[in-house]
Amino acid sequence: MVTESRAVPDATVGVSPVFISHWIDGRAAKVLLEQTGPVYNPATGTVIARVPRGGALEIEAAVAAARRAFPAWRDMPLIARSQIFFAYRELVWKHREEMARLITRDHGKTYPDALSEVVRGLETVEFACGLPIHLAGMNTPNVSTNVDAHTLRQPLGVAVGITPFNFPVMVPMWIYPIALACGNTFIWKPSSHTPGATQLQAELWKEAGLPDGVFNVVYGGREAVEAILDNSGIDAIQFVGSTAVGRMVHERGIKAGKRVGAYTGAKNAMLVLPDADMELVADSSIAAGYGSAGERCMAQTLILAVGDSADRLLPLMEERIARLRIGPGIEPGVDMGPIYSAEHRASIIKWIDRGVAEGAELVVDGRPFRHPTNPDGFFLGVTLFDHVTPEMNIYQEEIFGPVLGIVRVATYDEALALINGHKYGNGTAIFTMNGGAARRFELEVDVPMIGVNVPIPVPAGYLSFGGTKASVFADLQMRGEDSIRFFTKQKEVTVRWPKPGKQGPLSLVFPGNS
Ligand code: NAD
Repeated sequence: MVTESRAVPDATVGVSPVFISHWIDGRAAKVLLEQTGPVYNPATGTVIARVPRGGALEIEAAVAAARRAFPAWRDMPLIARSQIFFAYRELVWKHREEMARLITRDHGKTYPDALSEVVRGLETVEFACGLPIHLAGMNTPNVSTNVDAHTLRQPLGVAVGITPFNFPVMVPMWIYPIALACGNTFIWKPSSHTPGATQLQAELWKEAGLPDGVFNVVYGGREAVEAILDNSGIDAIQFVGSTAVGRMVHERGIKAGKRVGAYTGAKNAMLVLPDADMELVADSSIAAGYGSAGERCMAQTLILAVGDSADRLLPLMEERIARLRIGPGIEPGVDMGPIYSAEHRASIIKWIDRGVAEGAELVVDGRPFRHPTNPDGFFLGVTLFDHVTPEMNIYQEEIFGPVLGIVRVATYDEALALINGHKYGNGTAIFTMNGGAARRFELEVDVPMIGVNVPIPVPAGYLSFGGTKASVFADLQMRGEDSIRFFTKQKEVTVRWPKPGKQGPLSLVFPGNS
């Protein structure tokens, strides 16, 4: 059967499955039913859409469209290009509630959380609206006698974004606005778990006036990603997802001569000093650990509690956990939605079993939770461990679920050494009322995104974002100035305009600048 579709119309639960299509050359592509997979609403466990599984053929078609569209897009006057960005920004703003409902429906996170995702993503679109300024080069007159120098920043060609399930709008919006603003054409390979808002973004670009072929979407998993890595028509890739896949994409992409940045997994720790405001720490740890069911790369899932702070913090956390409302993310008043897939829920349960077997003290057990009216939804309660130690696997590995662990340490130095010794380094935070301690932490911690009494220190959308160690495989960070560099090639031009009639004598000496 051959089918063609537009975007998933709305976030209503219980409708019959809708067919989602690749978006190539400004239109939805034809898709064979047998080449599609199910999309679930994690709150109900029902299939709500079918998403295509693309491979080499679809990537080839998208690359051909993006290559055709490249010269005209590259040469479009900067103001005309930036006007399309302003129009896109307005359209996303107008459709932000619809987009948020689609995120909630596919992912499970609460509607206010999804709305915040859209607005935070827009910050990078807004940054890209200023593209004529960002693309300005340097001009250095008089580098030598009658010689000036200037810098050009030019697009690379066709850029690709490969993105994870957990932020189907914000993370792609950290990549494509800058790739496009720099004059590249773009292929997005999103996660197939959360495709509803993807299609809407493609349609809004078209409505904003983006020429056909400049922005394309190909769905799929490993096969599609391997086709991207093998395709010589692709110049650059930004990947966001797990460490294992990111490492592979980086290694293979670089070998194939592409520019690649991969931003990957995490295990973030917050350091709590005994002088901290414990009410603030309790609110922050619950928000950072259980928000979006812990499915955030900036979630803080380890609490390094110095001295007696764990004893004072624990009752405050338990009080708050008892008040949490877990349910369908679209329902008002719900604090935490379901896990995004049944498989991932099962994997989190295995991690909790493992923590118990490793000897951590289970203070709150999320495993028995069942939602009363949605028994087939992928719900899980929140879990809190105390007395987690660095030898344990639940300390070392990313769980990506609502599982928090308290690690008791004697001193600031011990806590700092643990953070700096961890294999991941994405985000971290210190909680203290002592400015000197906070300042020391900023200087000494080997993690680039730092919060001081701020639990989820995701930098504003116009600043750069990225980790260290196993959280990144890249020379530059995502977004901001670094991304402008990533998505452009730089040329240095040295220009001589001799004074009329003043040509110097022939010389074979290496030219000096005097
Ligand atoms: P994932 O690695 O499973 O998927 C990421 C992308 O890779 C998707 O587009 C997916 O289709 C594709 N993919 C999956 N398996 C593949 C394979 N075997 N070969 C080739 N491609 C494959 O990640 P996820 O589960 O969607 O997202 C969660 C992960 O992303 C977590 O590890 C989280 O920490 C990380 N993440 C990192 C950041 C960051 O900025 N560092 C931001 C968000 C999420």
